[in-house]
Amino acid sequence: MKFLGLDIGAGSIKAGIVDEFGFVEDESIKITHSRMENSDFQEALKTIITPYLSKYELSGIGLGSPGPIDIANGIIFSSANLPKVDKFQIKRILNDFTKMEIEFNNDANCASLGEYYFGEGKGSSNLFVFTLGTGLGGGWVWNGKLFNGFEGNGMEVGHTTIIRGGALCGCGNLGCAESYFSSKGLLARYKDASLSSLPTVKDFFEQVRIGDENAKEILNFGVEVLAEATRNIVNLLNVDTVVYVGGLSQSWDLFGDNLEKSIRAKVFPVLRDRLQIKKGKNQAILGAVSLILEKRNHG
Ligand SMILES: [Zn+2]
Repeated sequence: MKFLGLDIGAGSIKAGIVDEFGFVEDESIKITHSRMENSDFQEALKTIITPYLSKYELSGIGLGSPGPIDIANGIIFSSANLPKVDKFQIKRILNDFTKMEIEFNNDANCASLGEYYFGEGKGSSNLFVFTLGTGLGGGWVWNGKLFNGFEGNGMEVGHTTIIRGGALCGCGNLGCAESYFSSKGLLARYKDASLSSLPTVKDFFEQVRIGDENAKEILNFGVEVLAEATRNIVNLLNVDTVVYVGGLSQSWDLFGDNLEKSIRAKVFPVLRDRLQIKKGKNQAILGAVSLILEKRNHG
């Protein structure tokens, strides 16, 4: 069986063919840019999909996109990376174009299901996945079923308050977890502390590596905030496995051990002893395709 997985990311659309065992082949990428309007975006999607339609007998198409979205109606309301794309009816457009059912969800939910089916959450009956990217997101998979929340805007763990009266978050509130552990958050905290800007979070982690005291302190504080956010989730949902994915997880060697130590010191012992804490496999295309598997298994 062959499925087509599509991942709309920051600056590109990625596609690939996946079989039921999670083997990925024939990957391709189409660059997107911030000037794209709905019609340009639609053309970009058609361009990347077309070759697959003639080459493969597809059993389904799965698609992941950043939010805010409406999964029931298949709409991308807006996108930080595509500011001119507005209320894009992605499901209807791709359904008309491919004559196939499209499974669609936000990227954090896809990443979570992807870890459940093909990654570090395999076999977990109660899994939570943190997505450490531009923002801080999350997804909850309980007994193999994704918690979608209202219209697919599920687990906004990044916008739970950890530091009352803390730093201003993009959502307008103070002290959200995202303000301390995400690309946006780490860069903003670094700017506050050092009065100089770093272009990307890679540069931030590079500063940590070379021993910049501000950067080290901000990372350590961020790790404590992420550990608190994780503790809240573990105590609330009793998850047995927590997996961290996303761009920032590439620097796991700089914070993974401290994060795990801090979480284990904080959660209830009864939950701690069975808790698994892992860096994920980060395969967005597999995540998109796992939407199809979830639909088949859970309707
Ligand atoms: Zn917030």
